[in-house]
This record gives sequence, C-alpha cells and structure tokens, in this order.
Amino acid sequence: MLEASRKLMDYVEGSRAAVAFTGAGISTECGIPDFRSKDSAWARHPPMPLGEFLASEHNRAEAWRRKFAMDDVYRGARPGKAHRAIARLVAENRMLGVVTQNIDGLHLASGVPAEKIAELHGNGGYAVCLSCERRHELDQVRASFEATSTAPRCACGGIVKSATVSFGQSMPAAAMALARSLVQRCDLMIVAGSSLVVFPAAGFPLLAVRNGARLAIVNREPTPLDDAADLVLRGDIGEIFGPLA
Ligand code: NAD
Repeated sequence: MLEASRKLMDYVEGSRAAVAFTGAGISTECGIPDFRSKDSAWARHPPMPLGEFLASEHNRAEAWRRKFAMDDVYRGARPGKAHRAIARLVAENRMLGVVTQNIDGLHLASGVPAEKIAELHGNGGYAVCLSCERRHELDQVRASFEATSTAPRCACGGIVKSATVSFGQSMPAAAMALARSLVQRCDLMIVAGSSLVVFPAAGFPLLAVRNGARLAIVNREPTPLDDAADLVLRGDIGEIFGPLA
C-alpha cells in the first residue's frame, strides 16, 4: 500500500466524524475533465455566467449547445475509487457526509444517500425552470433543442436552465445549510481534488479548521490551504483512496 494511503487511513481511524469536501479532481479518473488542468474540454465549452445566459435567446441556445457538448464528453461516467471509498466510510458511519463542488452526480451514484450530499454548485443531470422551479429532464430538453435549435421554455413561459449554479447565480440555500451543518459537526475534513480557489465553496475547509477539525488535503497540485492543513498528500486520488475503497 502507498505510504500516502496509510497516512490517510490513520487520520480516518483517528476520527469519529469525518466529512469529505470534493472537487473536479475526484472525477478525472472517471473520464470527466477538471476545470483548470491543461487542455480541459471545459475551455472549449465554458459554462456561461448567469447574466450572459439571461441576456438573449441566442446566448441561451449557445449555453445549451455547450452543455450538451460536455455531456457527450463524459456520458456514462461511473464512480471512481475515491467515490467508492467515501461511500463506504459514510455507510460505516465514519463519515457524516460529503460537501461537493461537483455537478456530476457521482457521489449519489456511488451510494451516498442524497440527504448526506451538499451539492454546492447544483447538478448537471437535470434542468429547472427559473420561474416556477419545475424540474425538466435533459432527454426531453435535448430532443426539443436538437429539433428546433432554440433554447427550451417551461409550460409556464419561464426560462429553463441546467440545474447547475452558474457564476453570478446565488448559492442554493439548502445545500449551503447542509454543508454548514456537516462542517460544524466534523472532527476531520478530507479535501479531495479541488484547487480550492472557488469561493464561497472553498471557505468550508477553512471553517472546519476554525472549528477545531483536522484538515487533510489530497491533490496532485499545491492548494492555497496547504499551509493550514495537518496532512497534505500530493498524488493521484484514485491511487491514494484505492485501498480505502
Ligand atoms: P479544479 O479543476 O479547479 O481543481 C481540480 C484539482 O484537482 C486540480 O488542482 C488538479 O490538479 C486536481 N486533480 C485533478 N485530477 C486529479 C487526480 N486524478 N488526482 C489528484 N489530483 C487531481 O476543480 P474545483 O476546485 O472543483 O473547481 C472547479 C469548478 O468547476 C467547480 O465549481 C465545479 O463545480 C466545476 N466542475 C465540476 C466538474 C464535475 O462535476 N466533475 C468538472 C469540472 C468542473
């Protein structure tokens, strides 16, 4: 076993209430590119800020074109080793839950109950009406978009948008409340695969430290919070979490 895996396991064994904070790096081994790594497909199809999305029909159609192009990049992605390790720790009641920036739904797919996942940036697996909040399934949205090349509208006339949180959009209150509750109760915060530069999400590991929790960061690159961490493991997430799965 890798020395890094053993260290992580020691931290988990020394904790009674761990929480995971995950970012795009936990899903790269599943075929979903992260945001900031070189040549990311997200750079070719960047998510559109809310203001731009609301500004015109033309922009909304472009946002949906990019969204479906990215969906094709990672269609059929399945949970990886770190997702499975986290799901196991939650099932064994050693981990309270997961705070995630990811929109890929892979924590749910790995078996973590929905009520233990705080999806801070929403979920890319469905769409919502911005007026009446009705849920719209992507298959139908895509079929209509491909037939008409126009952005979908809800039956109420409202604008339909992917259920992700765009730049400029307010953070989802329920997910923020769940994240705060998890972080305030944890004695160990394990960050996996985040550059920790997107706020307010990246404030949660800091909040955990201020509340007296230990902080472990697993990432292949340095992060701005490395100095605040008790343990920094620089390496591949799948390899490091593998033995815990
Ligand atoms: P980020 O792209 O800014 O950072 C990812 C970090 O993970 C990087 O530091 C990278 O070096 C590291 N990394 C990537 N693969 C790794 C691996 N196999 N092993 C170890 N480290 C690895 O991601 P972020 O901090 O989550 O912020 C990006 C934003 O984009 C988030 O808001 C998120 O909502 C969104 N996003 C989500 C997904 C997803 O749902 N899977 C994918 C891309 C972007």
